[in-house]
Amino acid sequence: MSAQRTIITTQVGIVGGGPAGLMLAHLLGRAGIDSIVVEKRDKDTIHATHRAGILEAATVRMLTESGVDGRVLTEGHEHEGTVLRFQGESHRIDFQDLVGHSVWLYPQNEVFRDLAAARERDGGDVRWSVTDTEVVDLTSDRPKIRFTDADGTLVEVQCEILVGADGSQGICKWAIPQEERIDNFIQYPFAWFGILAEAPPSAPELIYSNSEHGFALISSRSESVQRMYFQCDPDEDVDDWDDERIWAELQRRVEGPDGLRLKEGPIFDKTVLKFRSYVCEPLRYGNLFLVGDAGHTVPPTGAKGLNLAFCDVRALAPGLIEHFTTGDDSALAGYSAKALERVWKAQNFSYWVTNLMHTQPDEDPFHQKRRLGEFKAITTSARGAAYFAESYTGWPED
Ligand SMILES: Cc1cc2nc3c(=O)[nH]c(=O)nc-3n(C[C@H](O)[C@H](O)[C@H](O)COP(=O)(O)OP(=O)(O)OC[C@H]3O[C@@H](n4cnc5c(N)ncnc54)[C@H](O)[C@@H]3O)c2cc1C
Repeated sequence: MSAQRTIITTQVGIVGGGPAGLMLAHLLGRAGIDSIVVEKRDKDTIHATHRAGILEAATVRMLTESGVDGRVLTEGHEHEGTVLRFQGESHRIDFQDLVGHSVWLYPQNEVFRDLAAARERDGGDVRWSVTDTEVVDLTSDRPKIRFTDADGTLVEVQCEILVGADGSQGICKWAIPQEERIDNFIQYPFAWFGILAEAPPSAPELIYSNSEHGFALISSRSESVQRMYFQCDPDEDVDDWDDERIWAELQRRVEGPDGLRLKEGPIFDKTVLKFRSYVCEPLRYGNLFLVGDAGHTVPPTGAKGLNLAFCDVRALAPGLIEHFTTGDDSALAGYSAKALERVWKAQNFSYWVTNLMHTQPDEDPFHQKRRLGEFKAITTSARGAAYFAESYTGWPED
């Protein structure tokens, strides 16, 4: 005989307590709609995971105007431009001048902290550290999330709408029968070697640098912690790289006639990040809706993932609110198509900027020179630069 489950009912059951799941729960809570968020990790582990850093203005507005927190404006850094560097020469793309927008450097850890604190402040139900999550009955009017709660209790959440916000390694999209979904997927022949170092910033804005040795991204986390990446083989072993070797590699990927030198310091985190692009179509199956990385992932070069996750939430929340308040399902019916339109624009930008900035393994002189031509077309033309600036800072909201 199977063990008894504690049954809980709610309007919206959400799998995944990352930025997408928590932001959706927050917006629904403000509209008086009940939700339960089920998350397999604990808060400290999520808070200690280093990921995104660049937020579009629309993402910042969602945090501040919906009452999550205004910390992004006081503790984040507004970047009015970014630097593209090819063959040791820097070219600044002035976002404000070209498209009238900025982006904000504010680490995903802090976004998570703000969202988790807002859920707690507002009395939201978030179950951390759950195990054995399952989603069932997705096409019925009572889809369910089953899981084991942190204290060992077996729980079944019965809801009207189930949202998969469980990231790229989640379970929800795989619960859609294979014949009902299209998996659009590519892998790239390179990865990023990411580090966190105790050092002062090397530059006031991000530097995207391509050199004959490959790509490097010079980013930042705070006045005393820097985030940097360099292109590497997907099978690179972090243990083969000591601090001295890493700094030498980063330095040679940015060196140039202007004498740019990175400010070095002790490295306390090293990871290899594989590059993939994925889109699940559609983003709905019965009463299951996918948001954020659960439905699509992009390589991090274009800084789009977290921003897209918030775009999905912006597209889904009004549909859910209408569903529960007026019974009108037209916005909900249009969610997948609306979200996918932006997802594919972001996929294109992320793919394009990744291939522009990275050196392909065994790249021949034709392709090297063609990429340089493309780079010049962006940096020596106001219209070319505006294309980059608009895509990077985020397209106008629909
Ligand atoms: C190195 C790096 C740099 C990046 N830089 C940027 C950037 O500058 N700008 C940007 O916009 N994006 C960036 N991104 C992408 C961004 O981090 C992701 O797109 C973002 O985290 C997506 O949020 P999410 O809520 O959809 O998914 P996630 O953050 O992955 O959250 C999903 C949650 O679901 C939970 N979960 C998974 N399975 C289950 C289960 N079975 N049961 C319960 N819970 C489950 C996970 O534990 C996780 O907490 C970067 C990513 C990386 C790796």
